[in-house]
Amino acid sequence: MKAFTVIVDDSPANLAIYARLVGSVDPAAGVRTFPDPFAALEWLAGNDADLVVTDYLMPALHGGELTRRIRALASASDVPVMVVTAHADRAFRAEAYAAGASDFVQSPIDHAEFRMRVRNLLLLGGHQRRIRARARALEQELKETAESRDQVLRDSRERLAQVIDTIPAMISAADADGNCIFVNAYQTALLGDGCGRSDYATESARLDRRVLASGQPISGYEGDIPLASGEVRTFLTSKSPLRDGNGELAGVLSMSLDISERKRSEALLSFQARHDGLTSLPNRSYLFHCLRQAFAAGAATGRARPLALHFIDLDQFKRINDGLGHHIGDRLLQAAAGRLQDAIRGGDMVARLGGDEFAVLQDDAGNPADVANLAARLNQLLTKPFVIDGREMVVSASIGVAVAPADGEDPEELLRNADLAMYRIKSRGRNGFQFFTPDMLSDARAEVQLQTALRLALAREEFELRYQPQVDLRTGRIVGAEALVRWRREGVGLVEPGAFLAVAAESGLMAEIDDWVLREACRQARVWLDRDGSGISVSVNVSVPQARTGGLQTRVARALEDAGLPPALLELELTEGVLLHEAHHAAADLEALHRVGVRISIDDFGTGFSSLGRLATLRADRLKIDRSFIETLDKPSSLAIVRAIVGLGRALRIEVVAEGVETASQLDRIRGAGCDVVQGYYTGRPMDAASFGRLLEQGRAPIGAEAD
Ligand code: C2E
Ligand code: MG
Ligand code: MG
Repeated sequence: MKAFTVIVDDSPANLAIYARLVGSVDPAAGVRTFPDPFAALEWLAGNDADLVVTDYLMPALHGGELTRRIRALASASDVPVMVVTAHADRAFRAEAYAAGASDFVQSPIDHAEFRMRVRNLLLLGGHQRRIRARARALEQELKETAESRDQVLRDSRERLAQVIDTIPAMISAADADGNCIFVNAYQTALLGDGCGRSDYATESARLDRRVLASGQPISGYEGDIPLASGEVRTFLTSKSPLRDGNGELAGVLSMSLDISERKRSEALLSFQARHDGLTSLPNRSYLFHCLRQAFAAGAATGRARPLALHFIDLDQFKRINDGLGHHIGDRLLQAAAGRLQDAIRGGDMVARLGGDEFAVLQDDAGNPADVANLAARLNQLLTKPFVIDGREMVVSASIGVAVAPADGEDPEELLRNADLAMYRIKSRGRNGFQFFTPDMLSDARAEVQLQTALRLALAREEFELRYQPQVDLRTGRIVGAEALVRWRREGVGLVEPGAFLAVAAESGLMAEIDDWVLREACRQARVWLDRDGSGISVSVNVSVPQARTGGLQTRVARALEDAGLPPALLELELTEGVLLHEAHHAAADLEALHRVGVRISIDDFGTGFSSLGRLATLRADRLKIDRSFIETLDKPSSLAIVRAIVGLGRALRIEVVAEGVETASQLDRIRGAGCDVVQGYYTGRPMDAASFGRLLEQGRAPIGAEAD
């Protein structure tokens, strides 16, 4: 930095001399001359000087006073001041020194001495200026450091506050007297009034007192907190003691995290574990859970509340599911679930056990009439047509009812017995309800035994065939025989098909039995063909399992081939149900068999729901009017139906057979109605092959009954 010498003198001549002399000492140094001491002071207040040379006696201000004022300036307090005066008065000198002058020179000045003194003072002044600058720099540095530390502190405090405010958690603190001393912005936003006066605040204060009393933190306290918005959310709160510098308890810090979402998903998970996804009804395991609780409560009080369990199975559901697709099946189940749910009272419960099985748990079922009423109502509800995707569909329900504690000592037993009762309804043709009775247990056991015995029967070839004649009413001749299976069961005797076919079908033995019947019937027909050459046809029944198994064509073809029987002498009897619902399994096979000459007849016609339109496409050769119409032929409606069926047969060129004709008058009536063929006890009971053979040999139409 450039060094300046300030020269103050009211005499311009002196100013010039001093300036020249100073300039000769250090040509690089700057010189400022001021005739007016006040102007000099002003300059010095804002600039650095290394030396001030001033006259003592000046009209505006004398040198002593100027020196004093220079010393008062922060920027020039230690600048060397040299006072020059023409007066030798000592008082001036003393005055100048007292004011802070550094040197005093008598004028006229000795130039060499003046220069020497100026040099010395300039050295000193320069030194002092540097010290001054350094001190100033240090001071500045110090100031800056202090400022920046303050800033950092301020910043970090602000940031902390910001963090605390933006953490998505309610954070607050209370002092040892329970006064709220801090609340973060999040909490204020949620609760509206900060620490709050709500129930939450009361509860929070209670917990604070616990922390203050024990000095221990509380963590994981879950509770619902009503928000200012009116919404109630669940928070997980933890509280920790706050201590002052001496370790004394000074307050409590609280933090509450919103765990509503977690709670919701937990609730959803637990709901899903207990409910069925499709219908949202409680599932089997939840039903069991509730049943177990009810049983346990009964055991604890010693007085079991009567409970009824309605085990519901939708009839024909599988048909709809397979036929129309799972999408429709699902919708049907949902609709059924809805109806069940609408039907029950507050304490009752509907559950989906799986598939098309539901259960209704009826509470307070002490009165059997109430239980029966509910079962009947449930059955009725499910029997009403469902409309799904604009399509109307009808199902029915088989309902088994077991009442606890009488029908089951634990949930498993109760459910099993309700299931047994349901099963009883199913085996009796479905649709309805049935209370459990203890004999069902022995029946169930008997059924298991029956299944085992049936398996053995196949291996031991215990099955036999009976043949029932079919008589052409136009000629009076036997034209065919229906092969009907019997089981010669060891220790029991001859068992009718009604007593074992359902069990055979359920245990998967049906197709095998039918195959045996098919082969045996073909073999027998061939024997008769060989005997008299006329060739009467043999009819065999095709069951649902046999139609479903697949490969029907191959099996029939092989049976014909092995027996050497012309296909035209074999007739397959399929009920409307088999034709309607299993047609997709066997359609191609039946078609192929029909092409090679095997005849197809529709059994039990009139009991199913064949659409008449389908009849033409089924290529049936025969319709067998169901026995129920013949039984009631004395009713005009039955006769009308028989007539209509005959008319239909004529129109479609399908032969019509009347089944179950037992009396002469029935025979007359069906003859009058125009039936082609008759099969019934009146023209011949099912008989063994030998008897049938004899009948054929007699060559006449049997009249009246002939026993097995
Ligand atoms: P279905 O095919 O309709 O057979 C006719 C049934 O009616 C036979 O009973 C026969 O004995 C009986 N019936 C015939 N005429 C009269 C009559 O005038 N009055 C009365 N009350 N009944 C008469 P069955 O032999 O007990 O067979 C019952 C059902 O069992 C059959 O009905 C058929 O669906 C089934 N079935 C019999 N054998 C077989 C078989 O080998 N395989 C298959 N899949 N099912 C068979
Ligand atoms: Mg039949
Ligand atoms: Mg029949």
